[in-house]
Amino acid sequence: MNTMNWIEKELELLAEASLERSLRRSSPVIESPGYIMRGERVLLNLSSNDYLGLAQHPAIIERMRKALLTEGAGSGASRLVTGNRPPYERLEEEIAIWQKCEAALFFANGYMTNTGVIGALVSRGDVVFSDQWNHASITDGIVGSRAEHARYRHRDMAHLRTLLHKYRDKRRKLIVTDAVFSMDGDQAPLRELVALKREFGAMLMVDEAHSGGVYGKRGEGLCHELGLQDDVDIHVGTFSKSFGVYGAYICGSHMLIRWLINKARPLIYSTALPPSILAGISEGLALVQVQHWRRERLFALSELFRSLLRAAGFTISVGNSPIVPVIVGDNAMTLRFMGALEAEGIAAVAIRPPTVPDGTARIRFSVSAAHTEKELTDATEQIRNIGIQLGVLKRG
Ligand code: PMP
Repeated sequence: MNTMNWIEKELELLAEASLERSLRRSSPVIESPGYIMRGERVLLNLSSNDYLGLAQHPAIIERMRKALLTEGAGSGASRLVTGNRPPYERLEEEIAIWQKCEAALFFANGYMTNTGVIGALVSRGDVVFSDQWNHASITDGIVGSRAEHARYRHRDMAHLRTLLHKYRDKRRKLIVTDAVFSMDGDQAPLRELVALKREFGAMLMVDEAHSGGVYGKRGEGLCHELGLQDDVDIHVGTFSKSFGVYGAYICGSHMLIRWLINKARPLIYSTALPPSILAGISEGLALVQVQHWRRERLFALSELFRSLLRAAGFTISVGNSPIVPVIVGDNAMTLRFMGALEAEGIAAVAIRPPTVPDGTARIRFSVSAAHTEKELTDATEQIRNIGIQLGVLKRG
């Protein structure tokens, strides 16, 4: 008997429910960052997290190229062994200055940051209060930490308060939230979270994966935009989205960083990223801080796209995030919507459960500063026509 046969059966079930995922090849169009290639076809990319259009920026590529020649290809070991090359420390200084925080620590990516930091801060006997739509990496960090997982309803501060009260006697308490939620583009009620953290003596951790680069005068994130940066104990951000490269960071006190160097397992037990990546991030970070026009353009285009989709008859949530979901509901229909968009020259990905709740499968559109008004206007016309053809939109 083949002990692996169960996988085939499980995969069949996934496929029957229109929930099987597959890898599709998307190649960049170097000179046109708002597009990707699928096979021979060039598609308008409306599903990228490269919000500021920096992923193919020549200055970033040049810095990475030069660093490859001076620093070599790989770092050869974890940072605690012999992988802690000068670009790491330089970048951490740059991050701390940019974020106006005591200290910063670079991580390989956002997923490892969230699992590593949560695992380092809490364990059995502690409790983590987490918004139910927080990113999977936060959930995985909580599960791995063995702390109690107290999930509060999305953005529901009354529910969080009830849970804080219920678990008030736990040893350590950590509240964790995405600043901007990745699949809806809505914002966490950060002011209320700060007030509750104070009232109940909890630590507060905010993940700025989708708000770093986008909000704040120099792209510091939503906490800075709201003047709350000093009230957040653990500030997480990624360089894989708005900054166009890869990697992630933590900002906090010297003590927090010292603790993480000792306890964050993904930092300790994984090889340091190639130094050339750090060089690219450093350039991306410099560009994000000074090229305000990219943020201005992004907001103008996001607003335009949202209003065009609304005018076309779609229900679009309020807000100014470049993440613009169109909820379809049914999984199979969402896949058909995605296929029809691709046939019309638009890459926009269907997001299905378990990434989003059952019955809320969606096309997650995202706008980039690399797009133009005309591209978004034309795309909306195509999206509208497909919506009508598939019966997702009423003819009117
Ligand atoms: N946090 C959030 C909110 C995210 O959306 C993501 C990535 N989609 C991550 C963390 C993980 O970041 P990375 O891609 O750098 O691993």
